[in-house]
Amino acid sequence: MSTHKADMAIIGGGIVGLATAYRLTEQFPGKRVIVLEKEAELAHHQTGHNSGVLHSGIYYKPGSLKATNCRIGKQAMEAFCEAEGIPYDVCGKVIVAVDESELPALERIHERGQANGVTCEVIDRDRLSELEPHSAGIRAIHVPEAGIVDYKQVCERMAEKVQQAEGEVRTNSRVTSIEQRDGGVIVESTSGTVEAGCVVTCGGLQSDRVARLSGTDPKLKIVPFRGEYFELKPEAAHLCRNLIYPVPNPQFPFLGVHFTRMIHGGIECGPNAVLAFAREGYRKTDINLRDLFESLTYPGFLRLAAKHWKMGMGEMWRSFSKAAFVKALQRLMPEIRKEHLVAVPAGVRAMALARDGGLIDDFLIVENERVVNVCNAPSPAATASLNIGKLVVERLESRLS
Ligand SMILES: Cc1cc2nc3c(=O)[nH]c(=O)nc-3n(C[C@H](O)[C@H](O)[C@H](O)COP(=O)(O)OP(=O)(O)OC[C@H]3O[C@@H](n4cnc5c(N)ncnc54)[C@H](O)[C@@H]3O)c2cc1C
Repeated sequence: MSTHKADMAIIGGGIVGLATAYRLTEQFPGKRVIVLEKEAELAHHQTGHNSGVLHSGIYYKPGSLKATNCRIGKQAMEAFCEAEGIPYDVCGKVIVAVDESELPALERIHERGQANGVTCEVIDRDRLSELEPHSAGIRAIHVPEAGIVDYKQVCERMAEKVQQAEGEVRTNSRVTSIEQRDGGVIVESTSGTVEAGCVVTCGGLQSDRVARLSGTDPKLKIVPFRGEYFELKPEAAHLCRNLIYPVPNPQFPFLGVHFTRMIHGGIECGPNAVLAFAREGYRKTDINLRDLFESLTYPGFLRLAAKHWKMGMGEMWRSFSKAAFVKALQRLMPEIRKEHLVAVPAGVRAMALARDGGLIDDFLIVENERVVNVCNAPSPAATASLNIGKLVVERLESRLS
């Protein structure tokens, strides 16, 4: 098989890998980049199965990588879409407290939003009814700057831009080894060998395994959590105008089932969060014995399960019972009925767990000599991707010349 040379090889054709490739071509025209993606199409995993929300950055701890990258990345994403004629809509969202017990958490989110520089205001029931007439809620936060986009479409355009800049985007290329040598890195893939000056790994659901290929111990394991969605049938679509979110449980890394208007039309409801029996298992029946064995024997997962078993059982129950899922949605929107919903394809999130059971919540980038590993890029990494890419390229600048 053929050997190719590149200044930078990027492993993973999801939005983080493609944004990094695009940033390289933008910041260092003339440098050659090659993206290696194991699937037959780009954005096949997390990026192609997400909610399509341009997050404002309201939830994240001030000063965290999530908070800073989300704010700057969102602006960059909107500018990219504007320049490339990709449809997006800054339609705004509401985060809704449905009873008194949720008000302190709602206030904390508002404070965070303000600390992060997000335009947001607490609104009363009357204003909520104007914005979302069918939503439940006694108080809410209105975030006018949240928006929606199709991240798969964004990825396709990024790939085109990379190719126009003489870069290469190769699908059906599973990377099997990454070996650092004096002056470069040898990457073996199912489509041939690449000799690169430096390497960036953006493996998403496989990020820990791909990082290990390069000799990095990321000190975490990816445990996959499936997020199931329903779509509102056309006759019920008027019940949600834009984005309606609950007050998230601060114990849990996910935002809770929400209503999301999609950029190409329709309203999605979800996702829940259940342990997936395969890292790339989109159906309940998908099982990968290696993945399942690794999850169930990992001390970090066992500790997490022991701590959150009640919540986990609730999520499992919602996965098997549509009635239970509907009940969760009815907290936000009492008029929703079972017959309003049709199941649509699920997504799988990469949850990064430390050995002690701690959730690695923030973005995590680990580098060694000539390899930068994006080990943890959970939501809002799609929103933030252009800034994550910029950071990664800056880190490798000295190894590019
Ligand atoms: C259900 C769900 C809802 C979400 N909603 C939102 C949202 O509304 N807004 C938002 O900003 N974020 C959201 N996210 C998060 C967002 O989708 C992810 O943070 C983002 O897509 C991560 O991108 P990535 O490129 O790191 O990973 P991925 O998109 O998973 O891409 C990784 C790629 O690496 C490839 N790969 C792996 N191993 C190899 C190998 N050995 N060789 C070659 N290629 C390899 C994979 O095939 C894959 O294509 C959501 C995620 C999920 C799952």
